[in-house]
Amino acid sequence: MSKPDLSSSSSEPVLSMAVTAEPATAVTRRPAYRRRDVLGRIAALSALPVVAGSATVAGGLTGCQRQSAASAASLPIADAKGHLLWQNWSGLNHGYPAQRIAADSPQALAARLASAPVPIRVLGASHSFNAQCVTEGTALSIDGWSGIRAVDTTALTATVKAGTRLMQLGEELARAGQEMWSLPDINKQTLAGAISTGTHGAGLHIPAMHGRVHSFELVTPTGQVLNCSPETNAELFHSALVGLGSFGIVTEYTLLNWPLARTRRETQVVPLKQMLGEWENLRQQHRNAEFYYLPFTDLAVRILHDTTTDAPIPRPADQDMDGLMDLKKLRDWASWSTPLRKRIAQALGNKHSPEVAVDEAWKLLSSERTIRFNEMEYHLPLEHQLPALEEIIHLIETQFPEVFFPVECRVVAADEQAWLSPFYQRATGSIAVHSYYREDHTAVFGAIEKIFRRYGGRPHWGKLHSLKAAELKELYPRWQQVAAVRQQVDPQNRMLNAYLRALWGA
Ligand SMILES: Cc1cc2nc3c(=O)[nH]c(=O)nc-3n(C[C@H](O)[C@H](O)[C@H](O)COP(=O)(O)OP(=O)(O)OC[C@H]3O[C@@H](n4cnc5c(N)ncnc54)[C@H](O)[C@@H]3O)c2cc1C
Repeated sequence: MSKPDLSSSSSEPVLSMAVTAEPATAVTRRPAYRRRDVLGRIAALSALPVVAGSATVAGGLTGCQRQSAASAASLPIADAKGHLLWQNWSGLNHGYPAQRIAADSPQALAARLASAPVPIRVLGASHSFNAQCVTEGTALSIDGWSGIRAVDTTALTATVKAGTRLMQLGEELARAGQEMWSLPDINKQTLAGAISTGTHGAGLHIPAMHGRVHSFELVTPTGQVLNCSPETNAELFHSALVGLGSFGIVTEYTLLNWPLARTRRETQVVPLKQMLGEWENLRQQHRNAEFYYLPFTDLAVRILHDTTTDAPIPRPADQDMDGLMDLKKLRDWASWSTPLRKRIAQALGNKHSPEVAVDEAWKLLSSERTIRFNEMEYHLPLEHQLPALEEIIHLIETQFPEVFFPVECRVVAADEQAWLSPFYQRATGSIAVHSYYREDHTAVFGAIEKIFRRYGGRPHWGKLHSLKAAELKELYPRWQQVAAVRQQVDPQNRMLNAYLRALWGA
C-alpha cells in the first residue's frame, strides 16, 4: 500500500493516534481564523505559467527536483505484526508502535506504565519535525486530557490539561477574560508538546510559552505523581519544563496569563534592505515583531502586533499558502536567472499597501499551514541575528537556487526557569529555514547549520538539527545537572528512543 498523500489540506498528523486513542473530550474545531496574506502579497504571481509538480521549465535547476528519501518512500499502513503506521506532520519520521495507550487518570496511567513496551513516547499533535516521538514500543496519546480545569481571575492563572490544543485554549481563555500574549505560527499543537520543546512566538519582551508556567503535575516513568514548581520538586521543575518528553508525562499546567485585550496587526511587504535597517528599532518598540526574508526577491514581509483599543477590523482571508506556491512557481520558472527572478517578484510584491487587522490576539497570532515542509530553527544571541542572516542570504543566493521558502526571523525574551530553555539567560534572535516536504533539505540545512553554530546558536528542540549530547552540553550551563535529574527519574531510560538516547548521551 502506498504512503498517504500529505499534500492534502489536512494539518493533522497522518494516522497519528487515529485508532485507539480517540479524545475523551472532543476538541472543538474552530473555523480557521485565517491570517492574511504574509506571502500572498505576491499572489499576483499566479499569472506565471503553471508548472506541473516540481518540474521546471526554461532551464530550471536540477536541485529543484531533489526529493527527500523519506517523503518519496512508500510506507505500508501496518507492519508485519499489524501495528499501525504513525507519522509526524511533515512525514519525515515514522514508526509502528506496538501499543497505543490513551491517557486515563494520572494514577491509572502511572500503574500502566510499569508494563508498557518501551520506549514509551508521549504524543502531542506530532508536529515536531525531528524523531523525538518515534517509537516501536508504546505511543501514549494525551488527547483525552483537554480543556481548562480551573481559573483564578484575580491572579490571572489557569490550570489547563496537558493535551489541550492551542486553538481551543485561546478560545477558552478568552471566555475567562485571559490570554497568552505569545503564540506560535500555528495553533494545532498540544500545550504539553509545545511547552516541552520550547515553543515560542515573537516579541523581545515576551518569553516563550514555558516562561509563563507557574507549575505542573508529572507522572514519572517509575509511577510517581508529582507536583512541580519553583518551590516544590524545584530541580525537577526546572529540568523537566522543557524536557522533550524525557522525564515522564505532564498531566496539567498552571499558566500565568494576561488580561484579554484587543490586538492590532500590521503586515507589509517592504524592501529587504529597509527591513534589515529598521529591525533593531522595530523589535524594541513593538509587542510582537517578526519578518520573513523572501529568497531571491530582495523583499521582506514585516509583521507587527500591538495592544490597542481600536475598533475591530476583520481578519482578511489568508493567502499565505497561495503566495508560497507562487514563490515555488517563480523558482521553478526562473531559477536559471536570479536577476529575472528578482525583477518579477519586485514588480509584483512592491505594489501592495499595508494591511491591518484588529481582534483578540489568539485569533491573529497563528495561521493555517496547509503546505507541508521540514524546518530547522536556531536561537542566536540577539546581537548575532542580523550578521548570521546576512550570511545565510548570501549562501542561499549564491549556492542554493532551489530555495523558495521564506526565512523567518523572530525575537524572544530571555528566561531562567527552564534550564534547557534555548532562551536561557539570553535575549534571542531566532532564524528559521524551511524546505518543501517533497524536496531534500539536507544539503541546504547542513550548510546553514554551520553558520548557526558559528554564531553560538541553540537549536529549537522540536525542529531539525544534528547536535548530540557532546555539543549540547557546551550550549547549556546546566546540562549536566538536567541530565542527572533525568537519569534519576528514568534510571532504565524507558522514555528514550534512539534519537533521544543520542541527544542525552544515554
Ligand atoms: C507548521 C508548524 C509550525 C510551527 N510553528 C512553530 C512556531 O511558530 N514556534 C515554535 O517555537 N515552534 C513551532 N513549531 C514546532 C512545534 O511547536 C513543536 O514541535 C511542538 O512540540 C509541537 O507540539 P505537539 O503537540 O505536536 O508535540 P509533539 O511533537 O507531539 O511532541 C513534542 C514533545 O513533547 C513531548 N510531550 C507531548 N506531550 C507530553 C506530555 N503530556 N508530557 C510530557 N511530554 C510530552 C513529546 O513526547 C515530544 O517529546 C511548528 C511546527 C509546525 C509543524
